[in-house]
Formats: sequence, structure tokens, C-alpha cells
Amino acid sequence: MLNIALFGPPGSGKGTQSKFIIDKYSLTYISTGDILREHISRQTTLGLQAKQLIDQGHLVPDELVVKLIEEKLNNAAKTNGFLFDGFPRTCSQAKILEQILAARRLNLNAMVSLEVPQAELVQRLLDRAKVQGRSDDTKEVIEARFKEYASKTMPVIDFYKALNKYHPVNGVGTLDEVFVRIQQVLDAFEK
Ligand code: AMP
Repeated sequence: MLNIALFGPPGSGKGTQSKFIIDKYSLTYISTGDILREHISRQTTLGLQAKQLIDQGHLVPDELVVKLIEEKLNNAAKTNGFLFDGFPRTCSQAKILEQILAARRLNLNAMVSLEVPQAELVQRLLDRAKVQGRSDDTKEVIEARFKEYASKTMPVIDFYKALNKYHPVNGVGTLDEVFVRIQQVLDAFEK
């Protein structure tokens, strides 16, 4: 099994690179952002709660996203491994992920962190807004998301450093260039 958390600030290319990774390594994709957006479009109680926070650039409470992750893991078909995109985003989520994987006799092999300078991130997000029209890709909300990232999500790096699971990858370059760098990290676990 190969279990990976793909980490990085908004706009670092997690969603795009995830597609390449799950194809090459036959992993089951779990994106908390996608699951939340699906709840919003179905207008579930959870979706209505989450929408207000997402539209303000805030994180959704840990208990809520952990519940979504557990549901996905419980209902997953047999797989070669899991790719978590956008989760964990707080140290508490990271600790709980270790526990819920251990309870299933699984282990997170690596946290791959896509590193991109902030000026480039803002430009990418504003470009994405023109194409995808995500409600949280406006200038004000992007700023709020970066603040949340700096205060709550960045500390997750130290959590994985301490476990020797942190693998920084330069996220600047073409899609192929970045994917080659990610493969250099992941191929080491396949051997
Ligand atoms: P993403 O598609 O990963 O950029 O997520 C979009 C938004 O969903 C984030 O800005 C958060 O408001 C919320 N979200 C996604 N994943 C998480 C998470 N692991 N913890 C808390 N909030 C999350």
C-alpha cells in the first residue's frame, strides 16, 4: 500500500498533480475540498454549514472533516493506497489521521509538500477563478485562506518533519516537471 498526503497552500497544484498521481500509482483519491463542495451542491445540512466558512476563506471544523475522511475510508473498495488531497490541514487533523490509519493497520508513507512562492500562488488562483468560477477564488477570500494556511496549516509541516515523513517538492515549473519531482519521492516507496 502507498498512502500519501498531498500538502501545499491554495493554488500550489494539489488537485492537478493528484490526477497524475492516482493514475500512475492506482490510488484512491480523497479530497476533503471536493467532498465539501459536493455537500454544498447537494445542499445537505453539512454543506450549508460548510459553505459559510468556505466562502469566508475559513477552515471547516476538524470534527467535521475527520468524519468525512472516516466515512470514505470505511466505504472504500480494495485499493493500492490512498491519496489525501487538502487533508490534513491542522495538527489536530494530522494526529487523528495517524490514529485512524493505525486503527485500520495502515500507515501514511509520506507527506508531499508542493512549495510555490506566494506571488505566483495568488496569480494562479486569480487565473483559476476565470476558468472554474470557484466562489472562494476572489481576492479577499484568497487573502483569508492564506492567513488560515499560515496560522493553522503550516505547523503541520513540523508534525511530519518529526515523523520523518515530510518531503518538500518544488512546485514551480510545468505540470510534467513537477510530476517528475513527485515521482522521485514516491518511487522510493514502491521498491
Ligand atoms: P480545497 O479544495 O482543498 O482548496 O478546499 C476548499 C475549502 O474547503 C478550504 O478553503 C476550507 O474552507 C475547506 N476545507 C477543505 N479541506 C479542509 C480540511 N482538511 N480542513 C478544514 N477545512 C477544509
